[in-house]
Amino acid sequence: MNKYAIFRMFPLLLITLLGVAVTAHASIKHKPNTNAIPGGIVILPLGEYHQPPKAFFAKQPVLVMPAKQPDHWQAVVGIPLRQPLGEAFITVNDQPIHFVVNAHEYPSQHLTVQRHHVHPNPEQLARIRRETQQMQPVYRHYRRSEGWPEFIWPLHGRISSPFGFQRFFNGEARNPHSGLDIAAPTGTPIQAPAAGIVTLTGDFYFNGKSVFIDHGQGLISMMCHLDRIDVQDGQTLQAGDVIGTVGQTGRATGPHLHWTVSLNDARVDPMLVLPNTPTDQGHAR
Ligand SMILES: [Zn+2]
Repeated sequence: MNKYAIFRMFPLLLITLLGVAVTAHASIKHKPNTNAIPGGIVILPLGEYHQPPKAFFAKQPVLVMPAKQPDHWQAVVGIPLRQPLGEAFITVNDQPIHFVVNAHEYPSQHLTVQRHHVHPNPEQLARIRRETQQMQPVYRHYRRSEGWPEFIWPLHGRISSPFGFQRFFNGEARNPHSGLDIAAPTGTPIQAPAAGIVTLTGDFYFNGKSVFIDHGQGLISMMCHLDRIDVQDGQTLQAGDVIGTVGQTGRATGPHLHWTVSLNDARVDPMLVLPNTPTDQGHAR
């Protein structure tokens, strides 16, 4: 080799190294906030692999993203609201990786709704069961994608009901609140909170007109109670694309968006996936 060849190669080498660094940086730029409680999210280091390793939590595939160190990976795990407290684990190549789920007391909320939304008749119950079966595979679908997407607020408004509240409808205990409610006038445009693919649209008994967005690797958004749906199944979305407008279809006491975020089929607090923003969102409590 000519003694100058190494100097000629140096800029190329530098560009290559910079390229690798920038690529690695871009894929770990966004990640959620963590909170190891039911309805929360944990990030667990998985160690070194040349390919993204396959991780599972309660048989559901888990979102995996690159860690800071080259060839190192981390799992982003959604913790279901019904997860028992204490030790839990995911598996990677059949090896357990442990974490601890801490106690958290969500406040209670009392709401008054129409009687048929608390005591559905047999026909309505059959419809609810059908719709639950329709949604289950959408929540459990795992589409290969890279890393964690960047999230934005789907709309600006008062938070009328935070995630996780113990709910009493007309005095009767029901499931805890599995999403975040943002109140806004009927007709307010709703934006896709992150890039993804529309995997289901419909008009459901409790959720009203709804749009499911698959953000990849088992990370799913459900946007509910819409007045109008502006997207179709299979449509590709960027964060900020309008998917429809605020309404009060289904079981709703006023016009608002109910936004569910699901990770490995666990409904988690949407506040954890949003960027840390100032208090202009109006945390009404
Ligand atoms: Zn809600």
